Amino acid sequence: MTSLVADVDVLVVGAGITGIYQLYRAREAGFSVQLLEAGGGVGGTWYWNRYPGAQFDSESYTYAYLFSKDLFEEWEWREHFAHQPEIEQYLNHVVDRFDLRRHIRCGAKVSSATYDESSGTWTVVAGDDAKYQAQFLVAASGVLSVPHFPDVPGRDAFRGESYHTGLWPTDPVAFAGKRVAVVGTGSSGVQIIPEIADEVATLTAYQRTANWCTPLNNAPITSEEQAKLRADFDGMCQTLNTSTHGFLHQPHDRVTFDDSKEERREFYEKMWNGPGFTKLTSNYTDLLFDPAANAEWREFIAEKIRGIVEDPETAEKLIPKDHRFGEKRPPFVTGYYETYNRPNVSLVDLRKTPIERVTETGIETAEGLREFDVIVWATGFDFGTGALTRMGIRGRHGLALEDHWADGPKTFLGVQTSGFPNLFFPGGPHAAAGNNPRYNGDQVDFIIEMLVSLRDRGYDIIEVDPVAEQQWTNMVDTWATMPPSFGESSYYFGSNIPGKPRRYLLNSGGRPKFFKEIARARTNDYEAFKPSRSGSPPSPPHPAAAAGAP
Ligand code: NAP
Repeated sequence: MTSLVADVDVLVVGAGITGIYQLYRAREAGFSVQLLEAGGGVGGTWYWNRYPGAQFDSESYTYAYLFSKDLFEEWEWREHFAHQPEIEQYLNHVVDRFDLRRHIRCGAKVSSATYDESSGTWTVVAGDDAKYQAQFLVAASGVLSVPHFPDVPGRDAFRGESYHTGLWPTDPVAFAGKRVAVVGTGSSGVQIIPEIADEVATLTAYQRTANWCTPLNNAPITSEEQAKLRADFDGMCQTLNTSTHGFLHQPHDRVTFDDSKEERREFYEKMWNGPGFTKLTSNYTDLLFDPAANAEWREFIAEKIRGIVEDPETAEKLIPKDHRFGEKRPPFVTGYYETYNRPNVSLVDLRKTPIERVTETGIETAEGLREFDVIVWATGFDFGTGALTRMGIRGRHGLALEDHWADGPKTFLGVQTSGFPNLFFPGGPHAAAGNNPRYNGDQVDFIIEMLVSLRDRGYDIIEVDPVAEQQWTNMVDTWATMPPSFGESSYYFGSNIPGKPRRYLLNSGGRPKFFKEIARARTNDYEAFKPSRSGSPPSPPHPAAAAGAP
């Protein structure tokens, strides 16, 4: 029997970085609020992805919350790129520091969310059939929260231990002395491989596509650096808030072939030795526009790989041959290439010898069966829309979100979609690409700004105009075809999920475009988000619902 547990103004789904911030902002604005989280603790991505080696590849202090200077001053990040345990500790600290835990229910996975036309409210069922009612539903369920398991024959037949990096158990996994397979060499695979290599008996990496990995160059934060960070808090915020993608890194001011060969070489070395994303954000300005510039940087990386990996055949397998640098989201690594010099580590090239089946004892490819004690699936996520389209969201006239988005997401500003009044999804599809918490935070701020304005004017329903939604979606699609956007082989287009429509799932316009549109929405009194009052005449059925969608 379903019982009503809470009736609130704002119901937030997901206790990741975005959801926690949404909860905080809603409560500070005077709304009653409840947050539901499927996991056993808070952290979202940083709760589920607790595999060995999981860590930030944006600088810790730029990924952290910046809404409170006191919080910034009291939390000392240990590393420039923090590891998962410290990140989880930080998020728990924030929840307790701002007394948010009493609004959070963990172990409450949402199974349905239904809009009620007459009251303009949402009814949400979660966990063990508990029912929640809310005026506004904010699904901060994340873009990388539905793990993808490849459809490999026999995957469930394996009798050893098997894990997905994005669904890692809270009890530590014992790897010592075991024969381990890691399938997938994206950002997660290349983090776990070097981390466990020295304790396992053998490690076999199964690689389908090599990635352009470059060093993360992590280091502990010295006490001088800690002091400088604190002294320059306002300057740092200013830089992050005016950067296109929410990073501290400054763009370079030169194109590749303005420099001599020697100067370029020196610059590439500086890039290679620079922190994290600088290789993308602070490289030559034509890196993603001029094929020759991109090719020269790639050749520099290939040389580095050949210089590090002792076995030439393995080195060649690790050098991508099918995509330019920046076509996919590049991983940043610590000791990854060096790992292949270990005698207990080997690399299987799945392009040459694809997986034929998983057996009870191991993985079989065209080259034969290798037996394992543990298989780690580092095979990614149903990016962008995966969580939202699985939540049982039903809008006006019973319209299913998964039907409304059957050809890909349609949104305005990545915060609302038509036919689903009072539903918001910050940090979801069509959010800007870059340093996630920065632009997800922009969306949270905007949502609260709209809700406060709505309340002040006596409205209780807000729904985006389909015309504004179409315009924004067209813009996202158009920009996705132009450099410096990611390429179609990137999972940002849904290309890793069989049958998923190939549509760009982020917004390459970045924060400036978002800010511009927010300013316009504000000037026009949120005209694109049509406010109304419950009890006013119902709107006609949405065309998809009228056409027979359930
Ligand atoms: P991913 O980048 O999608 O990588 C998945 C890997 O699995 C790829 O190597 C893919 O090969 C392989 N794969 C997928 N299906 C396969 C199949 N049927 N057979 C064989 N191989 C298969 O996923 P991820 O590594 O989990 O990373 C996802 C995103 O999470 C990252 O891009 C990043 O945004 C985020 N992340 C961030 C960090 C960080 O440092 N902060 C760490 C981890 C993840 P193909 O390339 O051939 O498809």
